[in-house]
Amino acid sequence: ELSPNDLEAFWLPFTPNRAYKKSPRLISRAKDLYYYTPDGRAVLDATAGLWCCNAGHARQPIVEAIQKQAAELDYAPSFQFSHPKAFALATRLAMLAPADLDHVFFANSGSEAVDSALKIALAYWNVQGKGSKTRLIGRERGYHGVGFGGISVGGIVNNRKFFGGLLTGTDHLPHTYNRAEQAFTRGEPEWGGHLADSLESIVNLHDASTVAAVIVEPMAGSTGVLPPPKSYLKRLREICDKHGILLIFDEVITGFGRLGFATAAERYGVVPDMITFAKGVTSGTVPMGGVIVRKHVYDAFMNGPEHVIELFHGYTYSAHPIAVAAGLATLDVYRDEGLFERAGELEEEWADAAMSLKDKRNVVDIRTIGLVAAIDLESRPGAVGARAYEAMDRAFHDHGIMIRVTGDTIALSPPLTISRDEMAGLFDGLGRLLDTID
Ligand code: PMP
Repeated sequence: ELSPNDLEAFWLPFTPNRAYKKSPRLISRAKDLYYYTPDGRAVLDATAGLWCCNAGHARQPIVEAIQKQAAELDYAPSFQFSHPKAFALATRLAMLAPADLDHVFFANSGSEAVDSALKIALAYWNVQGKGSKTRLIGRERGYHGVGFGGISVGGIVNNRKFFGGLLTGTDHLPHTYNRAEQAFTRGEPEWGGHLADSLESIVNLHDASTVAAVIVEPMAGSTGVLPPPKSYLKRLREICDKHGILLIFDEVITGFGRLGFATAAERYGVVPDMITFAKGVTSGTVPMGGVIVRKHVYDAFMNGPEHVIELFHGYTYSAHPIAVAAGLATLDVYRDEGLFERAGELEEEWADAAMSLKDKRNVVDIRTIGLVAAIDLESRPGAVGARAYEAMDRAFHDHGIMIRVTGDTIALSPPLTISRDEMAGLFDGLGRLLDTID
């Protein structure tokens, strides 16, 4: 039982605590597709936790691997030492990544993965005597976690404005969402590919000799599910190649089957120089993140002068044995159950089901891709996000559904194990819920 004092002590991230304290949304157990509240109510997890529990909850092989690992080797120093399973997981991840992305650097979260990738990009140019290449380019409405690097290249005003100077020398591409041109699109919008050309303008403005890397989420997730316009990512790759700039895909959300493939890079046939991952790598069970880098990036360090061979960057818990064991077991579940392919097979049905809410009250746009959907609600005058927040609260308390909201957008990203019946039940429940929101 929680006392009112307990509710005072805990600082809940990203949540207006005053509102939360009035009706806390608490969960105390999870199994497969469901969360359970402390009083035993089942809540359908339509968000895979926070886009991470792609295999569903408390999957037996993953649970067992974690338990076994905790008893066998709880920790191995991550500087100068390692353990065999870390090499095995790196190999498995490299095999899932396209082309010659064949080396894995481990961190513990998406934010750390992003900061690691940005630092690797800067050091990559430095070890080659091109230390003037320091500029980092992100995108408006990009979310890259909450480290100083991530918020500097990120494009969310509220996540930046209280934190002073940030990294200097960052720029942002325009975001790719245009409701007038794209409303109710399934998959990649036709309109917007040309926006990649603004990279050319930014690079020309500063000169390519000053630009280190471009980082984008292939599909911007946290800021409302914005699939890339057709040909957009290919064009970014071409411009980066033309000017000698590294391209980083932040696949913290899009990795591990969310879009029907191991990576978005695979879905779009575009090979970035680095891919950041986290979340789905352990299906949300144990914190883990990392960067998969192309051979030429890794080789630049290994072929560099002796004193820079060991890039000084790493975390106490890089390749933590329990996270690694969870990662290996999770990849087994994805493979054995064909979950990435399953997400691809369900994509059209999922889109049909989501689009069935098109004419519901207050709905102004719906976007779908892979096993992701976003439903935009019209703002209440003077209260951006209030309607969606209310929907989230009522979905949890009254309809037994967990949804995620960002601004006026409801985001859905269920575990890839969702059944067709559960999918139908989810959209049926959401339809009834939307009928009750003024
Ligand atoms: N990058 C992307 C694309 C993300 O979606 C997130 C988390 N939503 C992060 C980075 C940060 O991950 P974490 O919260 O694990 O630090």
